Amino acid sequence: MLSISGGIAGSITPSSSRANPSPAKRDLFKELGVTPVINAGVTMTFLSGSLMLPEVLEAINSTAHDFANMYELQDKVGAKIAEMLHCEAAMVTSGAACGMVLGTAACITGTDKEKIKAIPNLPGQRPEVIMQKTHRYVFDQAITTTGARIIEVEGPDEMDKAFNEHTVMTLFFNAAGESSVTREEFVALSKKHNVPSFMDAAADVPPVENLFRYQKMGFDLVTFSGGKMIRGPQSAGLLFGRKDLIEAAKLNHSPHEAPIGRPMKVNKEEIFGMYAALKAYLERDHKKEWEDWLNRIKRIKSVVEKISGISGETSVNPGPANAFPSLKLSWDEQKIKMNARQVSEALQKGTPSIAGVFGRSKDGKSELRVGVVLLRPDQVDVVANRLREVLGNAK
Ligand SMILES: *Cc1c(COP(=O)(O)O)cnc(C)c1O
Repeated sequence: MLSISGGIAGSITPSSSRANPSPAKRDLFKELGVTPVINAGVTMTFLSGSLMLPEVLEAINSTAHDFANMYELQDKVGAKIAEMLHCEAAMVTSGAACGMVLGTAACITGTDKEKIKAIPNLPGQRPEVIMQKTHRYVFDQAITTTGARIIEVEGPDEMDKAFNEHTVMTLFFNAAGESSVTREEFVALSKKHNVPSFMDAAADVPPVENLFRYQKMGFDLVTFSGGKMIRGPQSAGLLFGRKDLIEAAKLNHSPHEAPIGRPMKVNKEEIFGMYAALKAYLERDHKKEWEDWLNRIKRIKSVVEKISGISGETSVNPGPANAFPSLKLSWDEQKIKMNARQVSEALQKGTPSIAGVFGRSKDGKSELRVGVVLLRPDQVDVVANRLREVLGNAK
């Protein structure tokens, strides 16, 4: 198995092929004038998620040459993923947002063909999904896409009273800042009212244990993004949990002709790729990967700290989302005449373009966060040197 540090073949990305020019290789970035970007931040959808693992690219390439029955593929891959994640059933979606649409749709329709045809325009009162007020977030539009409406609650008592005959699901946003109902209480109340509970943990690995935690806790449906730290295809994700709900979710998805999930198709290669990514992620030496991240931070810190007035420290985000270490740089703007935003802009506009480095500036002090987990091994020094250049020039 390839580790993250050694695993990214030099030949798979255009920027490294430019480093080792080979005239035969077609550079589509160049051909189309698209700027290759180094991501020294966290996984961001607008920055194309993460870089797929070599195992994923291999899965995509090696399965492209034959047709497959998509029902069979989804069933077989789903069964295997369910076995890997110790749950009843699983499926590959086009991402966590798709997982939310399909999960909600499944809770609304079950296997009822008429309802599958009708959503989001079911006759009668709209189905209801219960959420905590503090959990409202941009992605809950994936819930209302199905025609459901969101009922906001605060605290266990209010949640208990919010259930009625229109309630189809409850949604827990795992990375929400505050919760007035704990995960355990949330599951217990949902079970008491016999309503499926859904956990959105899209960006919540590492730690790898989170892939098992929420189904064990009793959540009926769980979703994770494929294209974040699991490093699968960006347009793939996981939805897993109760068998009857996954079956209903599949009925709301492609390759069925026109249900709500039809425009959220995942192609054959990405379904194979998602499986390969999950397998590689579960088999990885996570401790070693963490050590590797810390070493990257040390390396960049040692280069940047050569500029007097700059200090760096390792900072670990407590999560649940993006729970990994990064380098926090800080300086006095009297000594380094640039603020965090200006450095961030200079990095992004430079060549190569380095994105995802954000910070803040207050009372003449600047702080900048440099991410290391999405860097290719050869990009660690590139980022260190660019930081030294930009900050050094500002001195
Ligand atoms: C990224 C994210 C999503 C959307 O995931 P996709 O895989 O991009 O569809 C949903 N919820 C949360 C909390 C996320 O971080």
